[in-house]
Amino acid sequence: MTGEFELIRRYFASAACARAEGAVALGIGDDCALLAPAAGQQLAVSTDTLVEGVHFPKACDAFLLGQRSLAVAASDLAAMGATPLAFTLALSLPEADDAWLAELARGLDRMARQCAMQLIGGDTTRGPLSLTLTVFGQVPTGQALLRCGARQGDLLCVGGALGDAAGALPLVLGQRQADPQLAEPLLARYWSPQPQFALGQALRGKASAALDISDGLLADCGHIARASAVRLCVEQARVPLSLPLRGFAGDSEALRCGLSGGDDYLLAFTLPPAHWPALQAEWPQVCRIGHVEAGDGVCLLDDDGRSLEPTVLGYQHF
Ligand code: ADP
Ligand code: MG
Repeated sequence: MTGEFELIRRYFASAACARAEGAVALGIGDDCALLAPAAGQQLAVSTDTLVEGVHFPKACDAFLLGQRSLAVAASDLAAMGATPLAFTLALSLPEADDAWLAELARGLDRMARQCAMQLIGGDTTRGPLSLTLTVFGQVPTGQALLRCGARQGDLLCVGGALGDAAGALPLVLGQRQADPQLAEPLLARYWSPQPQFALGQALRGKASAALDISDGLLADCGHIARASAVRLCVEQARVPLSLPLRGFAGDSEALRCGLSGGDDYLLAFTLPPAHWPALQAEWPQVCRIGHVEAGDGVCLLDDDGRSLEPTVLGYQHF
């Protein structure tokens, strides 16, 4: 490898996803990129840092890491109801390993194409392995999905089965093995989360509050509850859990993953009940898992509608 600029050129500036087109007026190579959101749109911006040993395992596959890093960052755009446009990559590397960089760039490029996002810049430095991705999207002015609009009487919904990524952790860390028909869907949910852009965009003007679940359902519902000054009630029996997760982890661990595991990057949102029939018809994978009450915090209801004490259940988020 011959220095920083050659590295940037070889792996990032020449990547298919780095072509300047659409909303990208100027891409990699100058002091700044230039982004031109459409008229009447606001720019949505979010940053995520992933540190080796904290957010991803040491010595993990570079292709999978590239793919997952962008998906995790881009999921915040989905949560705002934004349309993805572009991203930057600030990379800190202990050494420039050609094979590793090529795989990282390939994984980023794959997810960038899937998300219709372009790489428009970044920074490359020597240091402990970490990636910081800043993502840019656009959303019609005033229509972004915020965390602060949930109202008493709204339904609480999620974008699909929860807990698969958390359930996959023993597989990711090599602590357990499983049959491919169980392992593959769970590992895919960890390494290749699918930001719910279309669902987020469909919820504009309908959902009263929304976010993407990164820290676990109960913890993230707490963010909506705080921002909206309401109580979110989760009905335990309604929490959707996949068959592979139940098969691999067992029912009780599957439920723990669904309630408290993070990393799924599915949307959680509150919805005035009048919108439910049409939403359910168009998005069969969306599940109604609870409702919004006056009060504060998050409560978990058992099969008989009795409130379970989260501290008794050992959830540390409260
Ligand atoms: P400056 O010194 O002006 O900040 P750099 O020398 O760091 O610029 O980067 C040169 C160009 O390469 C810039 O356009 C920058 O955005 C881009 N760049 C640097 N690192 C990366 C990276 N890892 N991925 C994509 N683009 C990058
Ligand atoms: Mg720089």
